[in-house]
Amino acid sequence: MACKAVGITSNDIVFCQSLTFSASVNPVIYQNATPVFIDSEEETWNMDPKALEKAFEKYPNPKAVIVVHLYGNPAKIEEIKTICDKHNVPLIEDAAESLGATVNGKQTGTFGKFGIYSFNGNKIITTSGGGMLVSSDKEKIEKVRFWSTQSREPERHYEHKEIGYNYRMSNICAGIGRGQLKVLDKRLEKKREIYNKYKEEFKCIKDITMQPIPVNTEPNHWLSAIIINKGSKVKPLDIILALEKENIESRPIWKPMHMQPVFKNYDFIKIKKEGSVSEEIFENGVCLPSDTKMTKEEQEKVIEIIKGVFNRK
Ligand SMILES: *Cc1c(COP(=O)(O)O)cnc(C)c1O
Repeated sequence: MACKAVGITSNDIVFCQSLTFSASVNPVIYQNATPVFIDSEEETWNMDPKALEKAFEKYPNPKAVIVVHLYGNPAKIEEIKTICDKHNVPLIEDAAESLGATVNGKQTGTFGKFGIYSFNGNKIITTSGGGMLVSSDKEKIEKVRFWSTQSREPERHYEHKEIGYNYRMSNICAGIGRGQLKVLDKRLEKKREIYNKYKEEFKCIKDITMQPIPVNTEPNHWLSAIIINKGSKVKPLDIILALEKENIESRPIWKPMHMQPVFKNYDFIKIKKEGSVSEEIFENGVCLPSDTKMTKEEQEKVIEIIKGVFNRK
């Protein structure tokens, strides 16, 4: 709906962060537009403002920029917003994973023209499914409400002048969401504890680097993710398999969109000469168990297993 509201249609170009889940870019395709993928930088793992500038040199007139706050870690959003403003291009923030994360005290998802949040089952709070679009442009929000409820014109009979969508959230789901909002602060606290515990325990393993916390930000630590230094004998898969043996789930980092078969024909803009930052994060990273229901003992077990993998190699 954000893509439609900023007027993305066929033949438009849209800049989109490559290191993300496919849901960030699918709506660009729904609008028959062309995505151009942008590489990440190492400090936040999100869209590299320098690569974004470079993309503007090659494609001066994109219809929008889609930035993601990956794993609840804020992007360099102020810098990115400045670049977008300079080029007069609307910014859409995919804050699906970052509800509650802030930059200089301001919520992620509220810097751009539009922000989107997900309440899917795996997110920090959930309504079982569904999400939320925010904007300070009241007119556009009203328009989206109209589209998302089948574009029913205000007539007694069913009158349609535009194609509609059934994208509204049911009142039952919304009720669950309002209940969930009350536990958000507790979840944020618990997620931070989980991240800090991993960070503390892995200090002694020189080959592990935690996803960095960008300056002036408060991530929501939706997932605690690590990078294993390239030279290490331990590979991400060793950790995933060792945990799996104990029936504990961990996952690779999102595979960048420019590496996905379905998006292989679209351009990718990066600064790095050899390879790319997003590829390296994908190849060397692991998302660790981060559920707020995880007990202290369970997390200790995860840590012990991971330390064991490094000690054996
Ligand atoms: C979960 C997620 C989405 C999609 O949210 P849905 O509510 O499942 O549509 C979009 N972007 C990112 C980065 C996500 O993690």
